[in-house]
Amino acid sequence: MTEGNELRPIVGGNWKMNTTLYEAIDLAESIVRRLGDPGDIEVVLFPPFPNLQAVDQVIDGSALQLGAQDLFWEDKGAYTGEVSGPMLRAVGCRWVIVGHSERRHELGESSAVVNKKLHAALRNDLQTILAVGETREERNAGRTEDVLRAQLTESLQDVSADAMDRIVIAYEPCWAIGTGDTATAEQAREAHEFVRSVLADLYGDDIAQATRIQYGGSVTAANAAELMAQEGIDGALVGGASLKPEEFVRICEAAAPV
Ligand code: PEP
Repeated sequence: MTEGNELRPIVGGNWKMNTTLYEAIDLAESIVRRLGDPGDIEVVLFPPFPNLQAVDQVIDGSALQLGAQDLFWEDKGAYTGEVSGPMLRAVGCRWVIVGHSERRHELGESSAVVNKKLHAALRNDLQTILAVGETREERNAGRTEDVLRAQLTESLQDVSADAMDRIVIAYEPCWAIGTGDTATAEQAREAHEFVRSVLADLYGDDIAQATRIQYGGSVTAANAAELMAQEGIDGALVGGASLKPEEFVRICEAAAPV
């Protein structure tokens, strides 16, 4: 339970390329059962594409919302293997992640690509988690702020101020994702403060203060309470721990306001 942070916390469970169909159904059922009424917090599950519809049926009527891990920037056409915004809406998605570090670094997505995907999400009325974060080398070289500023500025190119209430930023230092090597509460707080200052430069202080910024990177039930208690941390994007229902629910509890 957190105290004092004013924005409604949001916790996302990014299942990445895990769960076959029946595993996804089991996992979603278990989370629904354990979570009950999570209080004043948003909780979004991000299963793999083939499991979206089945998970949507499981979470129907619960407090959970459905999101996709990615989308393509066009709405339809000759783009073999891609999945579009209208397809995601049609299977119940209300959210999508763009710019996840695994897509930026393993699949070579630039911020220009992320920007096109962000526009596609907004055009299709999908609320969007825009992920940004520096690599270990960039942090060690003292370049964290430059990298975050560039990723935010380029990814948000031509995104209007009006659209910002449909965007959540996820600060996810690449070196903390899937490594067990979490940012300290202080590192996370500083980075969030910096991200908010960039949003203020781009959109003004009111919008910066109203935009939720999640932390992501090896969040667990053991470290969630300390991270979520930091000023300016408005929830978590959770990978590995979101595959363990009991742990994921404990993270949600840690993020919920008192
Ligand atoms: C993520 O997938 O966004 C993530 C933060 O993963 P993990 O929690 O496993 O580090």
